[in-house]
Amino acid sequence: MTVLTNMQTRDVEALLHPYTNAVTLRQTGAHVIESGEGVYVTDADGKRYIEGMAGLWCCGLGFGDAELVDAAKQQLDKLPYYHLFGGRSHEPAIELAERIKDLMPSMARVFYQSSGSEANETQIKLAWYYNNARGRPEKKKIISRVRGYHGVSIVSASLTGLPYNHKSFDLPVDRIHHTSNPHHWREAHEGESERDFSARLAAELEEMILAEGPDTVAAFIAEPVMGAGGVIVPPEGYFEAIMPVLHKYDVLCIADEVICGFARTGEWFGHQKLNMQPTSVSMAKQLTGGYAPLSAVAINQDMADAIEAHSGEIGIFGHGFTYGGHPMGCAVGVAALDIYKRRNILGHVQSIEAGFQRRIRSYADHPLVGEARGIGLLGALELSPGGKAMFDQPGKVGARLAAELVKHGVILRAIGDTLAFCPPMTITEDELEEMFAPIETALDATH
Ligand code: PLP
Repeated sequence: MTVLTNMQTRDVEALLHPYTNAVTLRQTGAHVIESGEGVYVTDADGKRYIEGMAGLWCCGLGFGDAELVDAAKQQLDKLPYYHLFGGRSHEPAIELAERIKDLMPSMARVFYQSSGSEANETQIKLAWYYNNARGRPEKKKIISRVRGYHGVSIVSASLTGLPYNHKSFDLPVDRIHHTSNPHHWREAHEGESERDFSARLAAELEEMILAEGPDTVAAFIAEPVMGAGGVIVPPEGYFEAIMPVLHKYDVLCIADEVICGFARTGEWFGHQKLNMQPTSVSMAKQLTGGYAPLSAVAINQDMADAIEAHSGEIGIFGHGFTYGGHPMGCAVGVAALDIYKRRNILGHVQSIEAGFQRRIRSYADHPLVGEARGIGLLGALELSPGGKAMFDQPGKVGARLAAELVKHGVILRAIGDTLAFCPPMTITEDELEEMFAPIETALDATH
């Protein structure tokens, strides 16, 4: 058994860790990270690692970016806190909203929170408020997807379609329904093409809307590419088949861009890459490069008009968070968006994505790999004991592979038995080579 360091002992005695098996942690101790620079982080023992997950899919500009740090410092000096309640405002919030709107011309207004979960919580409240405003109080049900990930607050965790987010928490709440996961490799019928699979899923969605009653269904929420559910890229023609169903029944389309936003998929936003036409969009993570907790919800003109008018009628728009639109977060967001453009991060992603995807797919024939997949700078290796079979004890092999890679100086995330890749988007060809170098050896060493 590992002897825990002083720091690890302090850690287990003081913290309840998110998404962690608390019993195992007592035996292994936490991996304490101390600093970061570029695509690397260094732990408390002074060992350096490539951070192949950009933290939690958020540090798209890497660590230690002086411009982002300066933007935070300057804003803290000038105005460390202010809010947007009751008609107050500040320039960083206005500036960032304008820049978001420039990137998404179909969006009219931006509302801020601190996290992705809060963004999606806001989305659902807006969908309900909007339908009350339109005199349709029955139109409140929300459809999300099995394996979708939308956060952990009560409503956003209910939207999330993953077992651990519901198990033992008495979730999901009412009014939230889950439609099928669009993972072609695992879910398609034998011989079913991607297009036929997409058409079947759109027909299923329509059946669900009809069964629930179209007058009761308010919104459909989806990540353009599922992230925490295992990096699941939708099959060909998926959103092209889904969108007409939403239009037919007047169902809002919420794009959860918390991971996909800001160049990650090889376009500014995942919905642009995958032909999804959202009525509203959730953003977080790479909005500030992960340097400050900030999320944003953008809504289209129709929603903005209805919400504004209704708030006038009932007296107020009664929603908002103390730290929503925090000046430091917004200043860092403005700096991040500036960097994405000035340093042509989108162009860089587009220039290296083919090499990244080729490397991911080069493991497809390894005996431990069921499927190798990805898009842009997102990738995954789904491990399996053979074909589409699942391991008897889900998650064990994935965790062993991730631990093996740590020995080789690479941090990646095992989502159950799927190894996810989401490196900082600033990663160079040489650093990509370094990140992939130990994968084969680590796969060979993992049983
Ligand atoms: N939505 C998506 C697509 C996410 O990936 C996440 C987090 O990973 C969230 C929402 C929740 O964000 P947060 O952890 O900031 O609450």
